[in-house]
Amino acid sequence: MNSPRSPRRSPRPYQSYVYAYPHKTAYGTLSEDPGGRPALSELWAGERKDALSLYLHIPFCEVRCGFCNLFTRIGAPDELTTRYLDALDRQATAVRDALGDTEPVRFAAAAFGGGTPTFLTAGELDRLCDIAEKRMGADLRSVPLSVETSPSTATADRLAVLADRGTTRISIGVQSFVEAEARAAVRPQRRADVEAALGLIREARIPVLNIDLIYGIDGQTAASWRASLDAALQWRPEELYLYPLYVRPLTGLGRIGASAADADSAWDEQRLRLYRAGRDHLLAHGYEQVSMRMFRRADAPQAGGPDDYACQTDGMIGLGCGARSYTSRLHYSFDYAVEMREVRAIIDGYTATEDFSHAEVGRFTDDGEARRRHLLQSVLQAEGLRLSDYHERFGTWPAEDFREELSLFEHRGWLDPDGADSGLLRLSPEGLAHSDALGPDLFSPAVRAAMASYELK
Ligand code: SF4
Repeated sequence: MNSPRSPRRSPRPYQSYVYAYPHKTAYGTLSEDPGGRPALSELWAGERKDALSLYLHIPFCEVRCGFCNLFTRIGAPDELTTRYLDALDRQATAVRDALGDTEPVRFAAAAFGGGTPTFLTAGELDRLCDIAEKRMGADLRSVPLSVETSPSTATADRLAVLADRGTTRISIGVQSFVEAEARAAVRPQRRADVEAALGLIREARIPVLNIDLIYGIDGQTAASWRASLDAALQWRPEELYLYPLYVRPLTGLGRIGASAADADSAWDEQRLRLYRAGRDHLLAHGYEQVSMRMFRRADAPQAGGPDDYACQTDGMIGLGCGARSYTSRLHYSFDYAVEMREVRAIIDGYTATEDFSHAEVGRFTDDGEARRRHLLQSVLQAEGLRLSDYHERFGTWPAEDFREELSLFEHRGWLDPDGADSGLLRLSPEGLAHSDALGPDLFSPAVRAAMASYELK
């Protein structure tokens, strides 16, 4: 019988999107650890803090898209956004205290993500920027600041606040310019509203516009996919993300039975075809491929925004109940859920919290996991992993540490044979196309086991 890693077995191309390693479903409750919940001041003592990333998470959306398994809730009744910002303020104060002042503390980049940060009103967005600046000490006007938005919430007043406070990159989830496809993905929207939002974003003169599109939607054809790509290209976005559709448990599409399609190899083939067509179309229109999902206009200014699979290095402060933080030893967050009742309970718990001085949920990392993380997050970039960087950091070579995995990838034709001549471990175009199969192949047995024992909620 073939083992799961047998080269003879053709792996399914769409297993999971590895945007962070280890995944949150490998985290555990830290109070159950022998040492108990670690104090943030102890966790951050001795860490480098002169080039931190700051991420603020807003877990609210107007509608729940059918494909979405992010930590977010629909609507915010009874002044919930005010209570959430109050809690964010308390958390920021506690975290800044924990960072201390014995070593220099500086933020090199900031991002507001979600959910939909622009679910907040213009006044609330101003307050969010104040929390980042006045509580955390981030200088938003002098560092890259990336903000996510949606067609229905990208209004002129919100965009004016964001532009004024220093936003350098705005990312809008369009998914499809074809109304029937948007409906099929359970994200109903009118094309005219999408175009109007894009017009407002361009008028706000935020330097980098990113548009997210999805392929593999029920009813989507090569021609309709091309039409969405062309509609996006009309706006000359500095970046485009092309996402394969996934149907995951507990999501809207998962519930309405679209999961049958997930087992369908014809659907895999369709997504691969659309991926290749999309990639080739963008390459022919002056874009460079940064990763499987990310494309950047070759003549675009560098916003210094987050690259796909970024945060390879440690030193990330996440605020809000869906955000992750990374030190060199521990990745931590709060509890995670997709199901609406569970999400609500976690947000209610967060807004009632007074003491934010400890890490609650997380996973300690060791040297072996640091190597995996470095490999994963570099090799999934089109430019590849610089072998000398890895050797300088760990004292060994990837070929020594990951002999089995790399020979498997080589056997499958996923590695670029010319990469080594440039001192790189780099994926071939087919390797890049199979990023969502290759990435999970690099998970450690311990992380795999933790993810397998996670109970979906
Ligand atoms: S995909 Fe984005 S806009 Fe849609 S529900 Fe998820 S977080 Fe909200």
